[in-house]
Amino acid sequence: MSDCLFCKIINKKVPADIIYEDDKFIGFKDINPKAPLHLLIVPKKHIPSIDHLELQDKELIGELFLTAQKIARAKGVAKTGYKLVFNVGRGGGQVIDHLHLHLLAGWKDEKERDVPGMP
Ligand code: 5GP
Ligand code: ZN
Repeated sequence: MSDCLFCKIINKKVPADIIYEDDKFIGFKDINPKAPLHLLIVPKKHIPSIDHLELQDKELIGELFLTAQKIARAKGVAKTGYKLVFNVGRGGGQVIDHLHLHLLAGWKDEKERDVPGMP
């Protein structure tokens, strides 16, 4: 989709701090991080949200989670733990209509993690 911000990042028309890329997914730092490590893991296929998934996307979505696992391990947060979050629709806090998985990690303790308003 030509007017989609994340498609533009995928197509390198808009810069981003890219930390992972393969043929199906891209991972980059969130511009407004809500955790010490806040990454967005994005399928290159333009699917607007989880609510728009079709049966044919089931393998892609499975691979999205395995990609998150791989990135978490590579970033050294798999042992300490992390959160994976999908916002779905405006009521769910989604503002970019290109499906993306938030990976949040790196808090030094539970108090720092459990801030009101954070996922
Ligand atoms: P949503 O609320 O749709 O689940 O998450 C969208 C996320 O994209 C937000 O956390 C926001 O900070 C991030 N974001 C918005 N615009 C940009 C951008 O231009 N670059 C990057 N790297 N992240 C962005
Ligand atoms: Zn898109």
